[in-house]
Amino acid sequence: MSSWQRQLIDSVTAPAGLAERFGTDMSELDAVVQRYPMRITPYYLDLIEKPGDAIWRQCVPDRRELLPCQEDADPLAEERLSPVPLLVHRYPDRVLLLASGQCAVYCRFCTRKRKVGCAAMGVSDRHLDEAIDYVARTEQVRDVILSGGDPLLLEDDRLEHLLMRLRAIPHVEIIRIGSRVPVTLPQRITEELCAMLRRYHPLYLNTHFNHPRELTPQAFEACRRLADAGLPLGNQTVLLRGVNDTPAVMRQLVKGLLKMRVRPYYLHHMDLAAGTGHFRTRIETGLDIVAALRGPISGLAVPHYVIDSPGGKGKIPLLPEYLVKLGDTALLRTPSGEMIEFPNGEM
Ligand SMILES: *Cc1c(COP(=O)(O)O)cnc(C)c1O
Ligand code: SF4
Repeated sequence: MSSWQRQLIDSVTAPAGLAERFGTDMSELDAVVQRYPMRITPYYLDLIEKPGDAIWRQCVPDRRELLPCQEDADPLAEERLSPVPLLVHRYPDRVLLLASGQCAVYCRFCTRKRKVGCAAMGVSDRHLDEAIDYVARTEQVRDVILSGGDPLLLEDDRLEHLLMRLRAIPHVEIIRIGSRVPVTLPQRITEELCAMLRRYHPLYLNTHFNHPRELTPQAFEACRRLADAGLPLGNQTVLLRGVNDTPAVMRQLVKGLLKMRVRPYYLHHMDLAAGTGHFRTRIETGLDIVAALRGPISGLAVPHYVIDSPGGKGKIPLLPEYLVKLGDTALLRTPSGEMIEFPNGEM
């Protein structure tokens, strides 16, 4: 058995497994886990330094997940935007294909926590066939994003079969993989996996680091293998209260990512997903972070801060206001806050 499969078998899937290690009574969390599953790989568990820290908050169930709330189980209306099971088709030229229902670690802030890791999210061969058929007969789709769950929890041969079938569709120009395993199960990124992936270019991978403590030597090695296999790497961070909601933490994160050849892509404001309210920050927090990055840090490292609009209306980019006024002379605010005039005309 490979080391990544061993990690999955040895994962902690019940609060009692934490009680031994941290000497705290966790039984009140059983009700949370009945509703939203738990899984923490031994590797990710070892990143916890103490209860309540940035790693703990991301993976250990919290009774606030069950608080009554106004949020929606499916805030992005993914079910309505799903023409066949396993597909979400919101933008004309690209689709999400939910290729796996499982993740190495179940993130407590997951926007799909309504179903990720639950029996209802099993991926059957029949549904996968229907999803591929839909892509094949929908010619405007040129970009397929494998998501889930985590598509890299599929076995190599199953994943390869899927890539091969998508590659056989002439109008599919690029394929993207969205995966958190470089963060939660870096052992999954084997040389064999990378040797297989490189046969299906152009292939992109977006991963999901949220905190600088996740940038370990093992994660570094996983990203090195992927980048050496020619996959352009991006990162989607979720802005999480008590985890990464300060400019100092975010600066360390994005600088570290660039060293791993991972380009910060999106900074997501928390979706309005039921059971995640305790992670939500104010929008100002995200704007302040982006403003604090812009200037001191290379533009290469500054992600787009976005809110995915409720009801499936798409991602909205949010920017600190640099353009104050238009006209023959535009008024601009520099990153340090100084106002300057800039001529706005054609020569
Ligand atoms: C975010 C998202 C995409 C991909 O958007 P990009 O801006 O191209 O990365 C595609 N489909 C859905 C439903 C999405 O939420
Ligand atoms: S890895 Fe992604 S899909 Fe899986 S629980 Fe975390 S955020 Fe959700």
